Amino acid sequence: MAIVTICFIVGFAQYNCMSLIDFREQILKLTDFNEAFELVKLAVNAKFNMHRAGLSLILQGLPSRIGAYHILGSNVIVVNRTILDIIRQHKSIEEYNSYLFMVLAHEYLHSFGIVDEFRVRQMSYDLCSSLLGNEHPASIMAKEDPSALFPELSLLRQNKFDEHFEVVKNFDTAGQSYIQ
Ligand SMILES: [Zn+2]
Repeated sequence: MAIVTICFIVGFAQYNCMSLIDFREQILKLTDFNEAFELVKLAVNAKFNMHRAGLSLILQGLPSRIGAYHILGSNVIVVNRTILDIIRQHKSIEEYNSYLFMVLAHEYLHSFGIVDEFRVRQMSYDLCSSLLGNEHPASIMAKEDPSALFPELSLLRQNKFDEHFEVVKNFDTAGQSYIQ
C-alpha cells in the first residue's frame, strides 16, 4: 500500500513540473547551445528524474553518418558541426532547435552510462513525444532519423573527422555550484 502511495506522489509531482513548462514554446526561443542544454536537462529531469552536471560540448566536423557522440565515462559530448550548419542554413529555427534539442538529449542520456543504443533512442523518443507531442520535429527525428526531415543530409559526403574543433564556452555551468 505504501508503495502505491509513493508512486502516485512521484507521478503527480512529475505531472505538475512538466505542465508548468511549455517545452514547445521554449524550443522556439532557444538562442544558444547553453540554453538548449539547460532545456534538455530540465526535460530529462522532469521525465526520468535523472540529472548530472559538468559536461563539455565540442563542435567538430565529423563523418556525415555521425550526428554526435559521447565517449563513455568521459564528460564530453561532440556534435557534428557540418550537420548543424546545413540544418541552420536550410531549415526553420524550430527545426534547427528541435534537432539540437534531440541530439543533445540523446548524448546526455548516454552520459548516464546507458550504452544500449536502442534504449537511448527509445528514451529520447519517449522524452520528446511526451513533452512535445509525437508530431513535433524533435519527436519525428528521435523516432526515425534526422534525414527523415532533412533529406539534404543524405547529400553530405564527409568521411573524415576535422582536425579543428571548437569547445563551447560556459557550457553546462549553471548546475555546478550546488551539485559540486
Ligand atoms: Zn547513441
